[in-house]
Amino acid sequence: MACYRSEAIVLRTRDLGEADKAITLYTKDEGKVRAAGRGARRMRSRLLAVSQPFVHGRYLFFRGKGMDSMAQGELINSYRQLREELDRMAAAAYLAELVDVLVEERDPQEELFRLLLDSFDFLVEHGAKGVLLRFFELQLMNQLGYRPRLTDCTICGTRQYVHPRFSVAKGGLLCESCSGEDPAALKISPGAWETLRCLLEGRITLVSRLRPLPAVASEMEEVLRRYVDYRLARPLKSLEFLQTLQG
Ligand SMILES: [Zn+2]
Repeated sequence: MACYRSEAIVLRTRDLGEADKAITLYTKDEGKVRAAGRGARRMRSRLLAVSQPFVHGRYLFFRGKGMDSMAQGELINSYRQLREELDRMAAAAYLAELVDVLVEERDPQEELFRLLLDSFDFLVEHGAKGVLLRFFELQLMNQLGYRPRLTDCTICGTRQYVHPRFSVAKGGLLCESCSGEDPAALKISPGAWETLRCLLEGRITLVSRLRPLPAVASEMEEVLRRYVDYRLARPLKSLEFLQTLQG
């Protein structure tokens, strides 16, 4: 039976039968995969600890027809804090669901794997900061080929604008002359688009240093919510939980 090894992060799990689990993972070498964990819910199972949501481990899988199966795993980081504290859990569940919903199976992208790990590390260290979620949304969109244009006008390319708008459908800023191209384009303040641009072009180390004003933070959240939702076939389950905690 063909098998493969990979480092991976558990995105989500659901119960299967009496004692099994269906586990969705983002693996470093094969991208998103779904695997059955036979007996993984039994207290004495060797898979119990390595099949928890958000765990980072090294795994051995057997290839299967529909679903692979997880043969064994070894913990690298249990990310226990992400399962024990509500704010962190809600944020981690949101990031994991975004990857689960937006990424195709078997399309490995090491940068995305790294982004997820760095973001989990950030959540553990700094807590569930909104600016981290914005960074992740932008970086994920970028990785998936939906990098928003935040420097020049998406239609005419000019950088000469004072009050640009953000067009979800066109994928970026519209200058004043082009704003008629998308009547649904959102107003966006200079503080918000400049911060979004920093987050898109910057690295995660920048995130802990950015403290946008509340009005700017909610504007960025709104713009990116619409930008991400535009690519989703269904609403995210984790979002309601996240919004309840934030509200
Ligand atoms: Zn223009």
